[in-house]
Amino acid sequence: MGIYIYQAGYHPAILMYHQITEENAKTSALVVDPFYFEKQMQFLKEHHYNVLPLEEFIAQLKTRKRLPFKTVTLTLDDGNLDNYTNAYPILKKYNLPATIFLVTNWIEKPHFLTWKQIQEMEQNNIRFGNHTLHHAHLPSLSFEEAKKEIIENKIVLNTHLQHPLPIVCYPFGGYTVSIQNFLKENGYLAALATSSDGFSALDDLYALRRVRISKSSNSLFIFWIETSGYYGWIRQMQKKLKKWKKSWKKS
Ligand SMILES: [Zn+2]
Repeated sequence: MGIYIYQAGYHPAILMYHQITEENAKTSALVVDPFYFEKQMQFLKEHHYNVLPLEEFIAQLKTRKRLPFKTVTLTLDDGNLDNYTNAYPILKKYNLPATIFLVTNWIEKPHFLTWKQIQEMEQNNIRFGNHTLHHAHLPSLSFEEAKKEIIENKIVLNTHLQHPLPIVCYPFGGYTVSIQNFLKENGYLAALATSSDGFSALDDLYALRRVRISKSSNSLFIFWIETSGYYGWIRQMQKKLKKWKKSWKKS
C-alpha cells in the first residue's frame, strides 16, 4: 500500500531521566531515587523489554517499520556525577544500554562527571550525546550562537570519546525550525525534545519527544504505563476528555 499506518497509537517510549540520587528525590521532578531506579531496571529486564541503544532505536524508527511492543530506550540528561556513582552500577548489573547527554562545559565540575568516568562508561554500553556547551536555551540565542553551542560541544565530545553520538538533546526542550534544519543538513541523526504531551516518536526525528520518569514512576504500575508505548496516546485522550467536559458544562 505504500502508506504505512503506525499501529493504533503505539509509540515506543524514550525514557528521560536526569539525576539518580536519594537527595531531593521526594521534591524534585528531575530526581529519581536509586532504589526505584533499580526497581525500574529490574522491571524492564524481568518483563523482557526490548531495551535498545538510542542509535539503534532511531535507526529502526527511520525504517518506519513497527518496532516490537515493549521497546524502550533510556536517556539521562546533563551528566550528573550520580549517573556514574548510582545509575551506572545498576545499568551494568542488568546489562542495559543507556545514553547520557553531556554539557561539556560542566564536565569535571563539582557534582558532574569526569572524563575518566565517562570513558569508563563508554567501554561498558553507555553512549554519550550532545546537550550543548553551556546547557543553552537555543531559541533565546541568535542562530549563529545556537549553532556554536552545538558545534563546539560536538568538537569536545569528539576529542574525548570513541563513539560520540551525532544526536542532540535540546536543553529545556527548546528548539527552532532553523536549528532542526541545521542538524538535518549536517549529519546529525536525530534530536530529542522533552515534553511527553502528544508524544509521537514518529512525528519528527529532530524533536523526538520523551517520557519523563519522576517520583510518580516509583509506582511500577505508573512506570508500566509510561513504558508501554501508549502513554502519549493516553495523555492525549485525557486532554480531549477534559476539553469535552468543559464544553459540556458550557452548553
Ligand atoms: Zn538538561
